[in-house]
Order: sequence, then C-alpha cells, then structure tokens
Amino acid sequence: MSATKAYAAPAANIPLEPFTLERRAPGAHDVQIDILFCGVCHSDLHQIRDEWGGSIFPMVPGHEIVGRVSAVGSHVKGFKVGDLAGVGCMVDSCRECSSCKEGLEQYCETTGMVGTYNSREIGTGQPTYGGYSQQIVVDEKYTLKVSEKLDLARVAPLLCAGITTYSPCASGK
Ligand SMILES: [Zn+2]
Ligand SMILES: [Zn+2]
Repeated sequence: MSATKAYAAPAANIPLEPFTLERRAPGAHDVQIDILFCGVCHSDLHQIRDEWGGSIFPMVPGHEIVGRVSAVGSHVKGFKVGDLAGVGCMVDSCRECSSCKEGLEQYCETTGMVGTYNSREIGTGQPTYGGYSQQIVVDEKYTLKVSEKLDLARVAPLLCAGITTYSPCASGK
C-alpha cells in the first residue's frame, strides 16, 4: 500500500479538495503508474454531481490517464519501469464471459466492467479511484502502451473522448 495524493469530491456538488488515498501494492499482473497528465471528461462532472445516481464518495475522478511506469509485478510482460502507459475508463472485468473473451469487456455479463473510478474492485469491493491523483495501480491487461513520440498532454483525452469517436462501443462512459 502506498499513500497517494489526490483530489476528491467529498460529496455531490461539493468542490474537489485535497485527499489522500491508498493504492494497493502492485500484484503479480499489476503496473504502477506515476501519473503525468489526466484529462477532464464531462462524465467526471456528471459523476461528482451524482447526476447518474449511485455515486460513491469521496470520489477521485479521472479516466484519461497518462504516466510513466514506476513498478511492475513479477508476471507483467508488456511493461517495464520507465515505459509510458495509459489508462482509460475501465480497470477490470470478469475476463471469462463471452463478451470479455471477445475483447468487449465493457459489456461484461458477469461482474460488469469495473470503472477506473466510482466503481468497486472485484473481490475486495473497495472503491476505485481515478486519475486526479499522483499514482495508479492497474492490471496490465487494462493498461495501454503509449509512444515516447507523442505529446502526452494531448494523449490523455484520447483515452476516453478519442476512443469514443474511434469506436463508440469501446467507451464505457
Ligand atoms: Zn470520459
Ligand atoms: Zn466478463
């Protein structure tokens, strides 16, 4: 576990304020990312205002995340420390249903997709916290490679808004 500085909405319609959260220590398949940029999505506003109902507070929004890998689990194959990585709107799903097996995890039929924030981890039930924070720990299956050639501030919004226009069915929120 590591203490991570973040900004959280303490309740609906209350401005974000400094917040400290605990990220899990990277498991065997996890990538730990030091966040460099996080986009602001309109769905962040909907959720911190509880306009869709069921919001979990305190809430750390942010699902357009780009950063640099600072640790990897022992079984991680696709990333090493120092790589750039991105995280979009989901961080887990059941991985076993027909939708997950087709690469359509956003339609997961068993657990549903686990949102990057305002959702609950499978197993622990702990709330997920998003990218308005210094660090995130995500399974490498839900982590994207990012090229060193790109302007990272411009990459961040591609993780949600960009993928939505590229493939509407790939965006969970
Ligand atoms: Zn979004
Ligand atoms: Zn599934």
